[in-house]
Amino acid sequence: MTSFDPPRPWTASYAAGVPEDLDPQTGSLVDILDASTRDYPDAPALEFFGRETTYAELSSEVSRVAAALTAHGVRAGDPVAIVLPNCPQHIVAFYAVLRLGAIVVEHNPLYTPRELRKQFEDHGAKHAIVWSKVVKTVQEFPADLRVNTLVSVDVTRAMPVRTRLALRLPIAKAREARAALTEKTTDATPWAELVRHDPLPDAHPRPSTADLAIIQYTSGTTGTPKGAMLTHANLLANAAQARAWVPSIVRGEGCVVYAVLPMFHAYGLTLCLTFAMSMGARLVLFPKFDPDLVLAVTKRHPATFLPLVPPIAERLLAAAEAQGVSLAGTDIAISGAMALPHDLVVPFEKATGGYLVEGYGLSECSPVLMANPVAENRVPGTVGLPLPGTECRVVDPDDPHSDVEPGGRGELVVRGPQVFSGYYGKPEETEAVFVDGWFRTGDIVTIDEDGFVRIVDRIKELIITGGFNVAPTEVENVLRQHPSIADVAVVGVPSDHSGEEVVAAVVAAEGSTVDPDEVRAFARGILTPYKVPRRVVVVDELPKSMIGKVLRRQVKERLLAE
Ligand code: AMP
Repeated sequence: MTSFDPPRPWTASYAAGVPEDLDPQTGSLVDILDASTRDYPDAPALEFFGRETTYAELSSEVSRVAAALTAHGVRAGDPVAIVLPNCPQHIVAFYAVLRLGAIVVEHNPLYTPRELRKQFEDHGAKHAIVWSKVVKTVQEFPADLRVNTLVSVDVTRAMPVRTRLALRLPIAKAREARAALTEKTTDATPWAELVRHDPLPDAHPRPSTADLAIIQYTSGTTGTPKGAMLTHANLLANAAQARAWVPSIVRGEGCVVYAVLPMFHAYGLTLCLTFAMSMGARLVLFPKFDPDLVLAVTKRHPATFLPLVPPIAERLLAAAEAQGVSLAGTDIAISGAMALPHDLVVPFEKATGGYLVEGYGLSECSPVLMANPVAENRVPGTVGLPLPGTECRVVDPDDPHSDVEPGGRGELVVRGPQVFSGYYGKPEETEAVFVDGWFRTGDIVTIDEDGFVRIVDRIKELIITGGFNVAPTEVENVLRQHPSIADVAVVGVPSDHSGEEVVAAVVAAEGSTVDPDEVRAFARGILTPYKVPRRVVVVDELPKSMIGKVLRRQVKERLLAE
C-alpha cells in the first residue's frame, strides 16, 4: 500500500500554514462563533439585502434562540430539521441547535412535499425550523412523523419590494402573498417569539468534539439520498484545512464572503456557515442566485472569497459584461461540485483580477478534499492537491485493497480528519463505502507526478447537474409510477450548460404510448425541478445484466451514440 506523498513544493509552501487544530481533539463548532464574536464584536457578520448584523448581535440571537428551543423541548442529541433558504435566521438556527448539542439536519427548502417527507421518514426529527412556505407541508405529514416543535420563519419580511420583484415573488397581490407567507397565520411558533427569549445561561452544557453535529443528505454511491453523519471534529477540521489552504486571506472586516450557494448543501455549508464565520468575515447572504443582486453588492464590496459552481461563474460573468459592471476586486473564487470548464477560467480571472481555482469534495468528507493552490502553480483541468491532513490512494475499483501503478487510473480512496463515520441508521451502506478504513469516493482519478489529481470518471450512479446531485434511482422510482411506463433508466449525459443533464430512457407499457412532455409534467409534480429529466427518450428495451439489473452505463453510451 502506497500512501500519497505530497510533492516537495506543496509541502514547502503549505505545511507551515497547517494549524495545530487540524485534527481537533477539543472544542466544537460553537467555538467558531464565540472566537469571532470575541475578536470582532462590532464587525458585520451578516448582510442581507443591505441589513447588517454584527457578530455580537448574532451571538446574542443564537443564545436567545437556543434558550427558546430548550424551552420547547430540544435536547442534546436530538435531530433538528432546518428547512430554510440562505437568510440570517438560517445561521442563527444552525448555531443555536449546535449550542444545545443537538444535531442539524439541512434540507432543500424547494423540495416537494414528497421529497421532504422522505427525508423526515429517514431522520425522524421531532423539531423543525422551517420557511413559512413549508409550514403547511410539515403540518400535513402523517401522524407518525408529527413534529413537536415547529418554528416558522418569514424570510421575505426583510426584503424590499424591488428584491421581491427580482426574486419573482408575488408583488401585485403583495398583501395576500404576505398573509399567506407570514409566520402568524399558522399555528407554528413564529421565529420572532424565539428571538425575544432570555439568553441561554453560560453554564448550559456545550457539545463535545466527538458529538454528531450534522446529518447531511447526499446520494452517496448508490440508491436514494441518505444522511452522512458529520461530527464537530469533522467540520472543525475542514474549516481549519480550508484556512490552511489560503493562509494569506484577510481576516475580520476586510474579508467578504458571498453565500450564493445554498447553505443546505455541504459545499455552501462549510465554506459559508463555518469557514467564513471562523474568519470573522462579512457573509453576504443571497436566498437565490440572481446575478443582478450579486452585482449590486459587488459595486459596494466585492467578494474577497467567493465559493461557486461553474454555471454561477458563467452567469455572473455574462451579466457583468452585459451591464458593464466591474468584477474587479473579487479576489479568490473557488469552483467545486462539478468539473470547471477551462474556457471559463481565463475570462473570469481577467474580469476579476483574482483567481478562479477548482476544488473537489463530497458531503461525506465535510466536504473538501482537494483544491488547487491559489497561486500561479495551479493546474487547470485538475482538482488540485489534497488539503493538508488528507491522505489519498488510487485503487483498483474491482479489488479496492490493491493500489494501481503510480500515475494509473483507479478509484480514489481517502482518509483524513474530515472524513465521516457513516450514514445515519444505515450500517450496511456504511460498510460498503469503507475498505480497510479508507473511504471509497466512487470517483475515478489519476494523480500526476506533481501530485495533482484529475477526475476522469465516476463509477457511482450519481448525476451532477448544475452542481446539484441527483440519485438516478429516486427519479426512476417516480417515473415507474407513471401508468404508460413499463421500465426506465435515468442517466446523466454531458451538457455544456450544467455539466450533466438528467435524461430518462423509458420503455412504454404494453398498449400505451409515452408522451415525453406529459411524463416530464408528471415528474414536475413530484420532484424538485433540477431532478426532472430534461429529456425523456422512448426506447424498445433497456440493456440488462444476467441478473436483470439495468446497465445504466450502456444506456448512457447508446444515448450518446444517437
Ligand atoms: P456530493 O455528495 O453532493 O457532495 O457530491 C460529491 C461528488 O461531486 C463527488 O464524488 C464528485 O463525483 C463530484 N464532484 C465534486 N467536485 C467535483 C469537481 N471539481 N469535478 C468533478 N466532479 C466533482
